[in-house]
Amino acid sequence: MDDIERHAPAMGAFLHLRGNALSKGEPVALPLVQSSMYHLPGEPERFSNYGRVHNATWVALEHALEHLEGAPCRVFPSGMGAISAALFATLKAGQRLLIPGDGYYVTRLLSDRYLRRLGIEVVERPTAEFTTGGFAGLDVVFLETPSNPGLDLVDLAAVARAVRASGGITICDNTTMTPLGQRPLDLGVDMVVASDTKAMGGHSDLLMGHVATRDPDLLQAVDDWRRISGAIPGPHEAWLLHRGLETLDVRYDRMCTSAEILAERLAQHSAVKAIRFPGLPSDPSHNLARSQMRRFGFLMSLTLEDAGKAEQFINTCPLLRPATSFGGVHSSAERRIRWGDAVDPGFVRLSVGCEPVEELWQALNGALDTL
Ligand SMILES: *Cc1c(COP(=O)(O)O)cnc(C)c1O
Repeated sequence: MDDIERHAPAMGAFLHLRGNALSKGEPVALPLVQSSMYHLPGEPERFSNYGRVHNATWVALEHALEHLEGAPCRVFPSGMGAISAALFATLKAGQRLLIPGDGYYVTRLLSDRYLRRLGIEVVERPTAEFTTGGFAGLDVVFLETPSNPGLDLVDLAAVARAVRASGGITICDNTTMTPLGQRPLDLGVDMVVASDTKAMGGHSDLLMGHVATRDPDLLQAVDDWRRISGAIPGPHEAWLLHRGLETLDVRYDRMCTSAEILAERLAQHSAVKAIRFPGLPSDPSHNLARSQMRRFGFLMSLTLEDAGKAEQFINTCPLLRPATSFGGVHSSAERRIRWGDAVDPGFVRLSVGCEPVEELWQALNGALDTL
């Protein structure tokens, strides 16, 4: 844990990142620069030239994200925008890509439908057996831990070391943890991708994503991809995300602490057939979670008796929004099988929000009692 703690971002300094660089009379809150054109007589030199290439609101947001990640960042209009940038900027025909077979399903779709037909060989492995077979001959290894929605873990440091030794690069989707909960770059991973639609934004009112890397060549490749493909975020979304990040620390702390308390209690409830939460000592991933995660996250899965009972639980609990996606201030839940994930019909992914924990427990327990 020592190493992990040492690299934690200073969150007080984060809140004053902008303020400490201000001149007298400037606004304390971040201005929203909503312009496609810049006043540009004569030679463009190094001035902002066009809205697809430069935007001051993105730059401020990337500066904030850089503080959180401890690495330069580039923002994208969604998590998939960031994942596409990372994969299209690094892969070429004839190369081999390894992805988790049980990770976020749209990453698999992207690989299957678009990367394969460009001559990239796509290999899938379940997260729980990700290291089986080694990493020789794999050019890009894409990781997701905890995997969404199964919440299996993979040893980031071990995989990063092995892939680097055989000449490949590693990309980790850190959406479920945020840089406050897990720091893949500090564990040796080359690139982090994330959907900021989830806990980073936190208010369920925007879609965005980012890429973070300490490798200047990879950063340049991702930057070029954004400029040339046009996968740019809107300035208003960037502004909203910047605002959301100012409360990330308090929101995330509340969500993770509540999840730890609730998981212990939910594990005892007779209506819960199975539970996965990396923070539970009985979880198969607990030891690895303790060694590589700073927090255990705010996601857990509950398996209830059947689809009907799971729907009843989700739809009758007054403090649960029946919704896809996660990481908002409002607790939410859904049955993942409705999207085709390989899970039990009664499998519920629960995202713990910012409600006071005792109120939330009363509501969850009450809904489970009626099943
Ligand atoms: C939601 C999600 C994404 C995709 O993000 P969008 O912002 O919806 O494009 C990618 N990875 C994981 C793990 C996610 O949960």
